[in-house]
Amino acid sequence: MESRVTEVTVSSVKLRIIQGDITKQDTDAIVNAANSSLMGGGGVDGAIHRAGGPAILEECKKIVSRQGRLPTGKAVITTGGNLKAGCVIHTVGPVWRGGDKGESELLTSAYWESLEVAAENKLSSISFPSISTGVYGYPVGQAAKVAIGTVADFLRRSPAALEEVVFVLFDSKTFAAYLLALREMAEKG
Ligand code: ADP
Repeated sequence: MESRVTEVTVSSVKLRIIQGDITKQDTDAIVNAANSSLMGGGGVDGAIHRAGGPAILEECKKIVSRQGRLPTGKAVITTGGNLKAGCVIHTVGPVWRGGDKGESELLTSAYWESLEVAAENKLSSISFPSISTGVYGYPVGQAAKVAIGTVADFLRRSPAALEEVVFVLFDSKTFAAYLLALREMAEKG
């Protein structure tokens, strides 16, 4: 039977997937698939800076002058500027180099560190894009499993940290990959 599950509950936390534009989300934070320079770029990064305005870049510059470029797999938080979301959590996913260069560990770390930053800042809801599956070339089916699996692991480990996690997928192919990963996780229990 065709499953229409787009929401599961893990440790009382809602984990949802939707197709849409992450810059329109009103969760406490949205996550940016940034690059190490934190200076903005194309894809979702450009869309977030355009919609949020210059306050985001100003904070990013301060972070880089304080601590240098953001390593792959790490995350930092800034204001959300003009966005509905109050904050942006910037993380850097891995560039896909064939799959045997630590890509899955680095992608896991990008999700995990973003969730840690959200929890440390006492946020209750967070939206993620599909990190690394655009310009960075990570195969979306594999990325979706890492993304859903990592969020579920985090919620099981820290059940009180958050109330809602949303994946905001831009196109139907990406949405379909995350739907499959969510369904597989729901079936495994
Ligand atoms: P990366 O460099 O990490 O691969 P990209 O921005 O190139 O990041 O792509 C990551 C994903 O974000 C892709 O699936 C892309 O279609 C998607 N994306 C682009 N713009 C938006 C947006 N406004 N909202 C949500 N997802 C977006």
